Amino acid sequence: MARSLIAGSSQAGLSRGRPLAATSSRESVGMESQIIASLVGVDKVYESDGVKLKALDDVSLTLYRRDFAVLVGASGSGKSTLLNVLGTLDRPTRGEIRVAGVDVTTQSDNALSRLRLASLGFIFQSFNLVDVLTVYENIEYPLIIAGAGPAAARERVQWLMEQVGLTAHRSHRVTHLSGGQRQRVAIARALANSPALVLADEPTAALDSKTGETILELLNRLNESEQATFLIASHDQKVMSHAKRTIKIADGTVTESCGEEAYVYP
Ligand code: ADP
Ligand code: MG
Repeated sequence: MARSLIAGSSQAGLSRGRPLAATSSRESVGMESQIIASLVGVDKVYESDGVKLKALDDVSLTLYRRDFAVLVGASGSGKSTLLNVLGTLDRPTRGEIRVAGVDVTTQSDNALSRLRLASLGFIFQSFNLVDVLTVYENIEYPLIIAGAGPAAARERVQWLMEQVGLTAHRSHRVTHLSGGQRQRVAIARALANSPALVLADEPTAALDSKTGETILELLNRLNESEQATFLIASHDQKVMSHAKRTIKIADGTVTESCGEEAYVYP
């Protein structure tokens, strides 16, 4: 299984002439065990009014522990669709998707909810916070749902508020914050249960470029300190300067995946 997943990852690399055998130096150090998520031969077809649209076309991709990968492509290229099927918010039409060792295509909706809570973090362009809750309560929310004890939850929320620089705003309702501050709350919330994989869909698109830059620097830092894998969708080429890996998508097809050979994480 691991071999076919790795072959899947290098399939995208073939488009720039990298031979299949040079999968990456990760393989030589046993990086199969470091696979966090993978897609093999994934299609997603939407149908509306009898018209079919193939939003993902035979996508194969492997994400490794501590990757910081930017998924870049024009609007409508399939970025959100890829994040949604990988994040188990939607099901693919065809293909295999594994997240944290689980074949998600065969799981019940309840099992997928539990997997999302334990293993996935989501960051959206529009923050998607609970407006009536404070900064503290928004970050605490997924910890409570996951059954964390009060003392552990408090310690985790306090640590995350420090990481995102919002300790002084802990009791503020999130509607009273700026866009950049709201996105920092959303980032802390996404990381609350220490997910293996964080999916961010255009996390800087609603922010000015300076604020967007600080958000990306924060994500870079948390990628290191939390040892989590990040996949960040963006149509903004500037976001690529923060990437350890870039994955290019056009018309539902992954056209290029660069950088995975360069990172052998300790
Ligand atoms: P991106 O995030 O790169 O802008 P999307 O994944 O949102 O692209 O969309 C890819 C393609 O799928 C687009 O042509 C879009 O119109 C179409 N699409 C996305 N979601 C749906 C849906 N729920 N129903 C029908 N078509 C959709
Ligand atoms: Mg999108």
